[in-house]
Formats: sequence, C-alpha cells, structure tokens
Amino acid sequence: MGGGGTCPFHDRRGERGVRASVRGKIAVEEHVAVGGFTVPPLFRGSEVERRIGEVDGLRLEEMERHGIEVALLSLTSPGVQAVLEVRRAVELARAANDALAEMVARHPGRYLGLAALPLQDPEAAATELERCVRELGFRGAMVNGYTNLGDPDTALYYDDLRFEPFWMQVERLGVPVYLHPREPLPSQRRAYEGYPSLLTAAWGYGVETATHAIRLIVSGLFDRHPQVQLVLGHLGETLPFAIWRLEHAFGRRSPAQPLQRPISRYLRENVFVSTSGHFSTRAMIATILEMGADRVLFAADYPYETMAEAAEWFDHAPINDADRSRIGRSNAERLFGVGPGERGGARRAAAR
Ligand code: ZN
Repeated sequence: MGGGGTCPFHDRRGERGVRASVRGKIAVEEHVAVGGFTVPPLFRGSEVERRIGEVDGLRLEEMERHGIEVALLSLTSPGVQAVLEVRRAVELARAANDALAEMVARHPGRYLGLAALPLQDPEAAATELERCVRELGFRGAMVNGYTNLGDPDTALYYDDLRFEPFWMQVERLGVPVYLHPREPLPSQRRAYEGYPSLLTAAWGYGVETATHAIRLIVSGLFDRHPQVQLVLGHLGETLPFAIWRLEHAFGRRSPAQPLQRPISRYLRENVFVSTSGHFSTRAMIATILEMGADRVLFAADYPYETMAEAAEWFDHAPINDADRSRIGRSNAERLFGVGPGERGGARRAAAR
C-alpha cells in the first residue's frame, strides 16, 4: 500500500506492525438463505450452511473486523431460478424478498437488498422487481443464471424476447441486474464427466455465466436498452481476459442483426464486474486495464468465501488509492445508490 496518508478511505490507525485495513468498503455479492431456500447440496451441513442464514451477530462482527460497512445481500444460488412451477416461483420470490427486507431493516446502514425474481414469468418478475425497489427499497436484482421452466433440463436465457417486459422495467427503474452463476444444465455436462469438482466454482460456473452474458450482448439487448447495467461476479467470469479475441473473431462474422457497438464497448458501458471469490491481484489488474477501474466493485461472496481473505487481499493489493477507493466503495455507491439519506429509492445506474 503506497500513498502519503492523504486518503481518508484508508484507516491508518492500525497498530505498529499490523497492516491497516481499508474502512468503509461496500461488498456487493454477499448471500443469505431465506424463505425456505438453502445452500446447494454440496454445502449441506457445512460451515457455509451454518453462516448463511445469520445476519445479526457473526456476520456484522466480521464486517466490522474487515472494514466492510455495507453488504448487498442476495438470495443464494440457484434460489428462485430452480423452482419448476411458475406460480410457486412467484410466491416463493415474494416471500424470500419480504424476509430479506426484514433482515435489512433490522440493521439500517449495514445491509441493502437485491431482489430474487421469478423469471419463469417475465411479467411477474417485472412486477416483483418494481415492488422490491419502490416498496422494499432494494437496489437491484440478483438473478442466478438461467431460469428453469417445468423441468430441470428446460431453461430460459434472458436474451429471449419474452423477457422484453422485464428489461423494460429494469431500464425504467434504473437499477442493476446481477447475473450470478449456477451450474450448467444437467444435459449439458458431458464435458465435465468424471470431474464433478469442475462443474461449480472452479470452472463450470464461470463458463456458464460468461456464455449467458455474451448471449445478452450479441442479442442486441443493450442496443434496445442502452441504460441497462449488468453486474458479473468473479472478476467478470473470465470475460475481461477474452475481450480482444471475442471482438476480433466475432467481428469477422456478419450476424443477421449487426450490433451498434463493438463488443468491448458493451462490456465497458453496460457491465460491471466484482471481485467476489477471485482474489488475484494479477487478474484484477488485467480486469482494470480492460474494463476501467470505474467498472470494478469489491465483493467477498460470503459465506462461500471468507471476508478475511477478501479484505486482506483487496486492502493490500498494489493498486493506487484512487482505484482502491473506487472499487472498494464509490463505484458501488453510484451504481446501487448508496449514500446518506438515500435508502428506499430507485437510483439510475451511472453509465460512463
Ligand atoms: Zn456468489
């Protein structure tokens, strides 16, 4: 950590020999299990399961210890997206959002909510998003990958034109949509056969989510709705590293409906990425170089990751104070409308 002590964001009160932590961070991908939802089978009976429903004690202590002032809370994956029945998905989303709103209300100034959405019914999802933003004060939505419809192998990706009412609502409300990972469809796991541990966070989540995000871009979604802001976790699910080749190769084909901008522009103008679960300085610096420091957000991915590891890494990563302040706080303030007296309203996502 360099700098000359001029950054108020940096706490210099650390004891001699103890590295000071960065105070006032906003963490944007922190999970809870509410409304009858729980962790994926892999985590049943684990420390993750023990921690994920708790927001009143241990979680706040950890936030305090690691300089996280505000956590954006969201329902854990796959959540509502895996509910097979449409009406049930609508009911469960509503119950989960109400439960999350109560958690947030118990600790003003420490937590904010992201809505769970029943995208099985795009109109209902649009209505629920509006309710969450206008009535519950949520700051956007967290969508856990594709949405199932009727059975575990039938799914919708959100470039489908039936989601137009939903994206119109997103644009109207001016709140971001966080596209969070889930596993590939059961029938599409052949490439992972024999290596189940590659199916999730190690590899499969990233590939699945990056592919979904690219579908959204090449579908022309951001031409139809230029104000929509998408958030990707895990330093962009490998996309920042792939921008050049993606644009280079895609540009040689002539799609039926040409895009208005080069692919890199959508990634830099309609996408934010967070550090959730990807605490690599080299990868973060590459991401900053590709996307700009004002497109990167701090996140831990608690309780799947520890706040200690996320904060210890981020607070001392060799980036300048201005970028640390942007990534640690001010980008999230702008995107999610976090600030004094700002609770309870929709905020327009800032486009560069
Ligand atoms: Zn996560």
